[in-house]
Amino acid sequence: MAGGIWVYAENQNGKFKKVTFEMLGAGRQLADQLGEELCAVVIGHGVGELAATLGEYGADKVYVVDSPELARYTTDGYMLALSKLAREHQPAVIFLGYTVQGRDLAAHVAQRLGTGLCTDCTGVNIEDGQIVFTRPIYAGKAFVEAVFAEARPVMATIRPNALPAAEFQPGRKAQVIESSATFGAGDIRQVVREIVCQASGRPELTEADIIVSGGRGMKSAENFKILEELADVLGAAVGASRAAVDAGYVPHSMQVGQTGKTVSPQLYIACGISGAIQHLAGMSSSKVIVAINKDPEANIFKVADYGIVGDLFEIVPLLTQEFKKLLG
Ligand code: FAD
Repeated sequence: MAGGIWVYAENQNGKFKKVTFEMLGAGRQLADQLGEELCAVVIGHGVGELAATLGEYGADKVYVVDSPELARYTTDGYMLALSKLAREHQPAVIFLGYTVQGRDLAAHVAQRLGTGLCTDCTGVNIEDGQIVFTRPIYAGKAFVEAVFAEARPVMATIRPNALPAAEFQPGRKAQVIESSATFGAGDIRQVVREIVCQASGRPELTEADIIVSGGRGMKSAENFKILEELADVLGAAVGASRAAVDAGYVPHSMQVGQTGKTVSPQLYIACGISGAIQHLAGMSSSKVIVAINKDPEANIFKVADYGIVGDLFEIVPLLTQEFKKLLG
């Protein structure tokens, strides 16, 4: 192999997504074992200063593609920028986060480069000189190990929170290589008119270390307040099952599962959620799962590390009260 291990460093509002640091951690290990350079790729406008900080997270080189047309993410703009850079420098591997943007971009770049893509990986290792990816199948019921036979570059999206973050090495510097991108008329077919952000003050669901989730058992939108109170004491995000979303209790942006978000927090607290396979698909890789359900036969208890059988309307406020005492 040659050409480096590349990490696409997704950034938004002057900050990198947490998964960037997790990919740099895995990338550093691979680069050392394979004798490759670890390179980060930062795309955007006015991102040079931010990009330079990635040396402190293990990057040897940082490629920056800066252009006013790249100030906001568009599929075409970013796909053209990343695939042009990859054609010029021939990386051995490209990692992107399994995020909304990463999923979109990775598929288009892989198609453009004529290579394969291993999606939603939860493990990356080297065996006999080959990179082996671990990824869940059958909605998280089993895992496969995948290798790339011939297609290059090797491309994969990495599930946020699945891998340990790179060590922070203050003062470590990376070589920053700047390039610009020019686009012809019609190259970028998407127009971003407005970005609407919901400001909850809580962590983003896919990046949160702790998630408190509610299902149909919450019975109303108002009742989600008790989950928000618990979440705020724990510094957690609030998620939901599809049944809670379909019932109109919370917006779809909070849905966890096969047709919602995939999460992998340190702690997932499922309240009034039965544990349907489609819900488990989005959260079964959580490190510790706590389930609160009044039905002792509920499927969620099969994946839970700790189960509380009882009425969530009694248990959740008690937990909030006790955590308040513990955490001050
Ligand atoms: P239910 O299954 O109705 O469970 C409610 C639970 O609350 C019960 O176990 C009950 O015992 C408990 N409960 C009730 N009251 C209380 C109380 N007071 N205290 C404690 N416990 C209580 N689902 C997802 O979540 N995410 C997805 O992305 C998703 N995608 C899907 C995609 C497809 C193609 C399909 C077909 C389905 C999908 N579903 C998804 C739906 C999924 O099959 C289930 O219908 C859904 O997950 C059920 O949500 P729930 O557990 O909240 O509701």
